[in-house]
Amino acid sequence: MTTNIGKIYQVAVPVPLRRCFDYSSDLDIATGTRVLVPFGQRNLVGVVLSRSTTSSVDKIRPIGDVLDNGIATSVRIQALLRWASQYYHHPIGEVISAALPVLLRQPLGMPTPKFIEMYSISPSATSVDALEIATQLRAAPSQTKLFKLIQTQGKLSVDQLNSSFPGWRPAMKQLVRKELVIKEELLQLPVVDQPAAAKVSLTEEQQHAATGIINSLGGFRSFVLQGITGSGKTEVYLEAAKQCIAQGKQVLFLVPEISLTPQLVGRVRAQLGPSVYAMHSGMTDKERYQSWWMAKEGYATAILGTRSAVFTWLKDPGLIVVDEEHDQSYKQQDGFRYHARDLAIKRASMEDIPVVLGSATPSLESLHNIKNKRHVPLQLTHRVGKAKLPAIEIVDTTRYPLENGVSSPVLNEIGVAVERGEQVIVYINRRGYAPVVHCYECGWQAACQQCSARLTYHHHRKQFRCHHCGYRERLSENCPQCDTPLYFAGAGTQRVEQALLGKFPTARFCRLDRDQANTTRKLYQQLEAIQNRQVDIIVGTQLITKGHDFPGVSLVCVINADQGLFSADFRAPEFMFQQLLQVAGRAGRAEDNGKVLLQTAHPANPYIRMLTKHDYPAFAQANMEERQHAGYPPVGYFALLRSESTDLHAASNMLQNTAAIASDLIRNHNLSHVEVFSPVPSPMEKLAGRFRMQLLVRSPVRKQLHELLAPLALEMENQKAPRSVRWSIDVDPIDMG
Ligand code: ADP
Ligand code: ZN
Ligand code: ZN
Repeated sequence: MTTNIGKIYQVAVPVPLRRCFDYSSDLDIATGTRVLVPFGQRNLVGVVLSRSTTSSVDKIRPIGDVLDNGIATSVRIQALLRWASQYYHHPIGEVISAALPVLLRQPLGMPTPKFIEMYSISPSATSVDALEIATQLRAAPSQTKLFKLIQTQGKLSVDQLNSSFPGWRPAMKQLVRKELVIKEELLQLPVVDQPAAAKVSLTEEQQHAATGIINSLGGFRSFVLQGITGSGKTEVYLEAAKQCIAQGKQVLFLVPEISLTPQLVGRVRAQLGPSVYAMHSGMTDKERYQSWWMAKEGYATAILGTRSAVFTWLKDPGLIVVDEEHDQSYKQQDGFRYHARDLAIKRASMEDIPVVLGSATPSLESLHNIKNKRHVPLQLTHRVGKAKLPAIEIVDTTRYPLENGVSSPVLNEIGVAVERGEQVIVYINRRGYAPVVHCYECGWQAACQQCSARLTYHHHRKQFRCHHCGYRERLSENCPQCDTPLYFAGAGTQRVEQALLGKFPTARFCRLDRDQANTTRKLYQQLEAIQNRQVDIIVGTQLITKGHDFPGVSLVCVINADQGLFSADFRAPEFMFQQLLQVAGRAGRAEDNGKVLLQTAHPANPYIRMLTKHDYPAFAQANMEERQHAGYPPVGYFALLRSESTDLHAASNMLQNTAAIASDLIRNHNLSHVEVFSPVPSPMEKLAGRFRMQLLVRSPVRKQLHELLAPLALEMENQKAPRSVRWSIDVDPIDMG
């Protein structure tokens, strides 16, 4: 019990409840400060969001610990997060927590990043001749040894020294004293020196686009930079970024996860200087914290990051760039389901700075917003230099049968390209060997027991795997029921690679999929091998499609162009078009001999025809008309309520009740535009042993949708659903499954 309740603070606590909690303290605590608070039986890390003198709560518990002597989130970031919490109808405590660096979600103080000690030969010693140094070190064998080590290795960190020269400190001390070695303290390991960027002069189109952005620095405006693949969008961002930095402001540069390669970091640093910090999932929590710290302190001129970097607190932001803005990886698919592009736009408007959304194939949302004058369009219509867009040709698979997924025209063209010493990409959006395995004799099918999904056969380990829950099983290649040899249908990356290996035994292969490139490091190594022309034929999934610049690739073969044509998901054609134009864009970047082959069983399909002409605008218009007709986004607004449980009835009941409550709310609040559908099983009905249901709510008027969701979310929270039931709200869902 507290006798003197002192000051009362509203604290955002990471629990699934849509409210803040009151705590007391005698101290003056600034909003944005992290505090440790008792919650039930636990202590949780919360963030103070406001302060009051009264509370409606009787027994106010005291704040346990104030974790920082500074704030962990700025007032402007707090405003953004509050807005996001309301827009996505997600608990504020979880939103705030998700936006903090992982390190700060723990009940520890905010560390000042540790500087890394690095040792290198001092510039003065490099000019002294070897004999003189030898004289200086004559009586000191370990100093000599250490000096030689640094000479051969260049810069060495404490970690490296500890492992290669145990007990190095005394000798090093002497070397530093003799001014033969210098000690530096760096916040991050130095980047490998990049060859200085060749100075490009922007084309007229690029200059025009960059000027448009530069002229609006200092105020909010949202641009869509639509430029075909290889048209030099990155140079436009960088030109605008340079101006922004020259005005003393910082740049937030968002890219999809797999585009954030060391090459890109190098390219950006080469132009914007060394104070560009990266933030992506391949970094450790500590490294990401360091970048975050550099940004908030104002030392970072730019942050180059993936989805969650949109929340990075920048001391003085001046420009936000969202590259490949159509990319689905900007949408968080679980927990706090935000869209980083949409939040970037909101953030830019709150910070009163410009935002640039770049893409060769802008999302229909962004095109819609150009049409209704929310975004300003900027166009790049030509490829830079001599390169032209590759010709896209169709291979009709009803005429040319497939063998292991590959047709004879594709084989021929690969042969020609490899013969000429050019690189080839074979694109297939499916990993493993065969996605369908069954027995013709008794009808047995390889299916996952835990999911409503088939098992994919993986050749190398002779394993059947579920790509949804991770289940693995070793089976023989004969039917487990009747021992007949099984039939392997369809083709994944492994099968295509194996088939091509048989045809081109001397070619150098690289398979790029989540099985092979299962860590960021391995992915980078493979991308580097491709760039260095150590590979002739690349068989890959969409890992290969994003923004990479492979000048050696002249031919791209798409194994199955039809995947998105007949899907139940209304966004499938858009994703198909975007993905295929992206992968096609990898061809012919250096010269004008690029070619793309599309294997399709539907050569007359209008979307396929538009693809061969690279006609994204025509596609977008046609697809938009379909959506307009059906009231689908971006014309209408969707929210998807999901529930899941090991007990199908529990999951279903939860949404049945929710639908009934929603109908009442609609009636009582006069939300006549909002439409509530019936709960239905999700397209993937069972996942990892849990049954999944979903309920679609939609409205042509966005405001009404949110007027329903706000009270509905609280009702869902209060429902006494069994513990096994998990539920969520997905506003502007991208994945309808
Ligand atoms: P996009 O992002 O539009 O696909 P990039 O910005 O990656 O295109 O540019 C493609 C290639 O063209 C890169 O290698 C880049 O260095 C080069 N490039 C871009 N602009 C110019 C320019 N004005 N002059 C010369 N080369 C350029
Ligand atoms: Zn059988
Ligand atoms: Zn499964």
